[in-house]
Amino acid sequence: MNEATDQALPVAAESSGAEIAYRIGNALYLNITNACTLACGFCPKTQGDYTVKGHQLHLSHQPSFEEVVEAIGDPTMYEEVVFCGYGEPTLRLALLKRVAAWLKERGVRVRLNTDGLANLVHRRNVVLELRGLVDTVSVSLNAQNEALYNEHCQPSRAGAYAACKAFIRAAVAQLPEVVVTALDGLPGVDIEECRRIAEQELGARFRRRVYGLVG
Ligand code: SF4
Repeated sequence: MNEATDQALPVAAESSGAEIAYRIGNALYLNITNACTLACGFCPKTQGDYTVKGHQLHLSHQPSFEEVVEAIGDPTMYEEVVFCGYGEPTLRLALLKRVAAWLKERGVRVRLNTDGLANLVHRRNVVLELRGLVDTVSVSLNAQNEALYNEHCQPSRAGAYAACKAFIRAAVAQLPEVVVTALDGLPGVDIEECRRIAEQELGARFRRRVYGLVG
């Protein structure tokens, strides 16, 4: 998803030449898997396009810890390092936690862009395992109700929309900052209702993203 469509759709990218780590402004984005629990119709990856502003994010294999660290280089050069995509970072939870710990040891701010389905997939509250490792989590809610979410995101697991909201609640309880996102302009999406759900129902912050803008 990431917000590298949200999870995971970065706004603008500078040339990095790397596919595991790519720079956007003062942040470094990590592309640790192309696997997803969703198949979002609005995502370029779903159409087979793995590029973001000239960055090729189609991984030839699942990178190892050593490969990710090598791709990062010096993490202190960036304002933050973001687990993003194309793909859902929490599907590689062990690697994510190991790299995040490595980053936190170096005093780097860590953000996770996610579909919010990790607890559903892993069948436990993984938010507890992210405490101290992730400073900000950005969760793609994508819709104001389950029917619309299912239409746009095509989840491979039942109960995904409710699980996403439950993940957001769990993250709000445990992590320093939780930002919920939705795409303004995506057919049927009521952006103000998404904001209400995020802020009033779930206690998170909300960030409107614009459909059609990469990032
Ligand atoms: S979660 Fe959806 S938007 Fe994010 S990478 Fe997967 S298919 Fe694309």
